[in-house]
This record gives sequence, structure tokens and C-alpha cells, in this order.
Amino acid sequence: MDINEIRTKVAARQRITPEDAAYLWQNATNEELQALASQVRDRFHPAGSCTYMIMRIINYTNVCVAQCDYCAFYRLPSQDGGYVMQQAEVFAKLDELLQLGGDLAAFNGGFNPALPLAYYCDLFAAIRARYGDSLEFYALTIAEFMYLADHARLSYPETAQRFKAAGVRWITGGGSEILTEDFRRRHSKFKYTVAQYFEAQTAIVAAGLKTTATMVIGFDETLAERLEHLERTRQFQDQTNGLASFLCWTYKPYFTQIGGIEITTQEYLRHLALSRIYLDNVPRIRTSVLTQNERALEGLLYGADDFDLPIEDEVTQKAGATIDLHFDKILAYARTLGFTPTYRHVPQPEPVCSQV
Ligand code: SF4
Repeated sequence: MDINEIRTKVAARQRITPEDAAYLWQNATNEELQALASQVRDRFHPAGSCTYMIMRIINYTNVCVAQCDYCAFYRLPSQDGGYVMQQAEVFAKLDELLQLGGDLAAFNGGFNPALPLAYYCDLFAAIRARYGDSLEFYALTIAEFMYLADHARLSYPETAQRFKAAGVRWITGGGSEILTEDFRRRHSKFKYTVAQYFEAQTAIVAAGLKTTATMVIGFDETLAERLEHLERTRQFQDQTNGLASFLCWTYKPYFTQIGGIEITTQEYLRHLALSRIYLDNVPRIRTSVLTQNERALEGLLYGADDFDLPIEDEVTQKAGATIDLHFDKILAYARTLGFTPTYRHVPQPEPVCSQV
């Protein structure tokens, strides 16, 4: 195998295999990865274009029984410092988001045994009633969705229908981290298996809800595990066509049980390019300003086409992420790199692959 064989495949719109991906990871230069990833990106998006959103993550509760060893955010029910947000507090955060020019909220909390399904359905219905289409919200991650279904003794399809009736349109692929059974046994054994994850996501798509794929790198995962995650994601998209985007971010090791050292931005960018080339059936590849700050925009050179400008996320901030609210400076950096950023509102239709 050599790089020219892979170049020929990508140019002919053939898929790369896990072996091709491993070869690229180990041998391709940064420039070679950029060129291949940009070629795939440009099938979906006009060259030089990119989109962004201003958003906030609302961490409605930090009480969680899952005990993932990479998490610096949670409190057990028996510990001090646990909290649950009430509707008025959530509304205040949404009002502030709108004032700052944003219109996307993402809910992400813990597996809190004290919160019934009604807490969530009432909250989401109230948000839809109060804000209509002036903002959109990602209601929970799949990990929380699975916990709530179990807690309420409902099937995944029944739970998806309950949320849909409450006005929910999106449940993101959060909580995936690395989708191998072994990784989950090592780090988050109470957070559901890979098989359960995809069973739940299949039910979410079947209910007509929208969803996304996510990935977190920089723990102790191997290259083989990263590639297995990408392969499972690509297969799921082949089966359902339900993934609107893929977002990868990096593990922050500060104040967590397992600690560790952050991977470099360069490693992140190379992985982003590999993901863009591998996931030839996912329209959007998003780069993570939340964990890489301004340098995340260099991901646009590595095949990404979209990014969030976040104003808050307690989960990653507790583990060492810092949020930069100088959005003009960040957007100027995108222009310096040769890209024209355009604000993207969630209801916009998803891009499709061009036929040429
Ligand atoms: S990562 Fe999420 S599920 Fe895991 S302990 Fe933290 S809050 Fe709980």
C-alpha cells in the first residue's frame, strides 16, 4: 500500500478501509491529510465556506450515578454540591443566549435517579411553548436518553415518542466517547454498551427525531479503537442515514480520576482529517472550539466545515476547558485561514453530497 493508492481511491469516491486509515495515520504528512480531507469535504460544501453557531450547553443537573472515571463534573447523590436546575433558571440561560446572538442550547447532565421523566418532558414542552422556533435545543445525549428509558421502565421507542410529544426534535450522539466495548468496560461500565447505544440511536431515528455522531479522543484509546469507532459510525449511517453531523472533541484530564496528559492540537487535527476521509457518508464534520479554542478553526484546513462558538459548558470547564467569548477574533481567524464563516440556524436543511 502507498499514499497514491489511497489518493486514487478517494478521487474515485471509493471508501477507505480501516487498513487504509491506519496507513494514513502512521504515514501521511499533514499536507497529504489536508488535501484528502478537503477533497471529501468539498463534495458536500462549497470550497472555502464554513458555518458556525453560537450555543450554550445547559448542565441541568450534576448528580450522576454512572461514575465514569474520566469525568470531573459529577456528584453522587450522597455527596455535597449536587444541584438540579428549575425551569426559571433554564429560561434565564436561554434568554441570555438569545441576547448574545445565539439560538442553540444543548442539555447535558447526569444520570440523576431523583429526576422522573416528567421533569424532562415538562421542561422541554415549556421551552417549546415559550420560545417556539426562535431557538432550537438538543434535548439530552443518547447516554441520558438510555438512562431515562430504563429509569422509567420504558422501551427506547416509547421514550423517543414521549420526547417527541414534548416538542423535542434532536437528541445528540453525546456520551459515545469511544465506541468499543472494551473502552467502556475500562472507563464507564455503568454507561451502557455499544450495542445498547446503537439500539437507542436507531429508535431515535425511527421516531423521526434528528441525531448526531460524536467522539472524544485523548484518553488511553488505541488507534484500533479509534478506527473501530469510525467504522461503527459509518455503518450506522449506511443503515439509517440519520446522522446530521460528526463532532469530535478532546478529553480534558484535569481534576479527573484517571488524569493523564492532553493530546496536542496537531494530533486532534490529524484525527479530524482522518474522520472526514473515513466518514464519506456524513455531511457535516464539526471542529471543537470548546476544547481547542481558536486553534480548532485550523480543522477547516483538515476537512471540517462547521463549528460552535460556546458560551458555557460546565462538564468540560470542570475538567480544564476554557471558554473564549471573543467571537469576532475567532471568526477573524477563520477568514485568515481562507474560509468565509456563515451563521447556521438549526432548522436549515442538511447538505447533500454533490453528484459531480
Ligand atoms: S460523563 Fe456523564 S454519565 Fe459519566 S459520570 Fe460524568 S455526568 Fe455521569
